[in-house]
Amino acid sequence: MKQGVTILGATGSIGASSLDVIARHPDRFEVFALTANANVKSLVELCRRFRPTVAVIADPALGSALRAALRAADLPTEARAGAAALAEVAADARAGIVIAAIVGAAGLLPTFAAARAGKRLLLANKEAIVCAGALLMDAVRMGGAELLPVDSEHNAIHQCLAGAADRASSVRRLVLTASGGPFRTRQDMRGITPNEAVAHPNWVMGRKISVDSATLMNKGLEVIEASWLFGFAPEKIDVVIHPQSVIHSMVEFGDGSVVAQLGTPDMRTPIAYCLGYPERVESGSSRLDFLALNALTFEAPDRTRFPCLQLAYDVLARGAAASIALNAANEIAVEAFLGGRLSFDAIAPVIETTLARASMLPPGDVNDVVELDRAARALARSICAQRAGVR
Ligand code: NAD
Ligand code: MG
Repeated sequence: MKQGVTILGATGSIGASSLDVIARHPDRFEVFALTANANVKSLVELCRRFRPTVAVIADPALGSALRAALRAADLPTEARAGAAALAEVAADARAGIVIAAIVGAAGLLPTFAAARAGKRLLLANKEAIVCAGALLMDAVRMGGAELLPVDSEHNAIHQCLAGAADRASSVRRLVLTASGGPFRTRQDMRGITPNEAVAHPNWVMGRKISVDSATLMNKGLEVIEASWLFGFAPEKIDVVIHPQSVIHSMVEFGDGSVVAQLGTPDMRTPIAYCLGYPERVESGSSRLDFLALNALTFEAPDRTRFPCLQLAYDVLARGAAASIALNAANEIAVEAFLGGRLSFDAIAPVIETTLARASMLPPGDVNDVVELDRAARALARSICAQRAGVR
């Protein structure tokens, strides 16, 4: 029987890679629902190709535009709109697999809904687990969901840990690799433009995560993500710069063995791993040619030029509210940078100031997370505006 798949954030980079893998396996998967934030045209185009049962546009004002466009395209897909509709399709019994590929804390509630409904949950939306780590892991356990990481580093670690008995005592450390981003060797971080920051050397991704890769905040968020997914303290999670992006991450065991997962940098590989698990299915990615590789090199991250990495390590010791504030301030600062309202080297200071002023009350449930996120965003916005000199 075919498995129904819902993609939250289908019009993005992970959404496109997911649909590419799904299209290779019409015998195994069928698309149940596709969602997008506000791009009706792209969503309808995907509906034309993949014929989902339901399409959801997150912006509630665009529901009738989506309905009209689907009708004009002569498609039977049901149109829905708004935040509640997103959470409803994530929990719908007609899909057993949900791919959480919305960017930012905006993906929090539908990701929770899928976890509570006991789905196989393919998590790309790292901001959701950064904001709600313990609560999301609880929801997964209580809902009987199966959480599989799409993020390439965590997917690599999932593969490296396969078969490891008693992880808590057998694992010495997790080693997350990082490409180092476009500014790995740049000394002066002043005057960086958005186009320079989103030009990633190895991966093609959405704009927000591309800026995060340039500041190394992406690796910081991934340290927090790894800590929740695999249950390790920050002292047991290291980051090493590996500019070729061939080794996607590693696990070092107590006997001295280091297990690594390698491949070409293509998100279709981790997505296919999660879709087929525990089977291996074709992903469409090109094969790793060892003879064409010059060298695999490694270096330590520079925490002075890239302060965001250290900020992320620090918040892990400060509790859940600190992670929420870090993520919210980062989303606002990156948006301001991409909009030309904040300089690249002001991203870390905005986050630091937000962390110093934000509420540190621990969230008791997901509604508290939403509220803390909202408050930290408002704070970060005013800090950005002050720095820009516009009030
Ligand atoms: P993207 O910007 O390309 O796509 C984001 C998707 O989310 C789009 O479909 C968009 O319509 C939707 N969206 C945006 N804001 C929304 C909102 N407020 N409400 C509902 N939907 C909204 O991003 P991406 O690069 O595909 O990344 C998606 C997630 O996957 C991020 O959390 C990112 O960190 C993570 N991730 C991405 C990659 C990658 O290679 N792109 C790798 C690892 C992890
Ligand atoms: Mg990653």
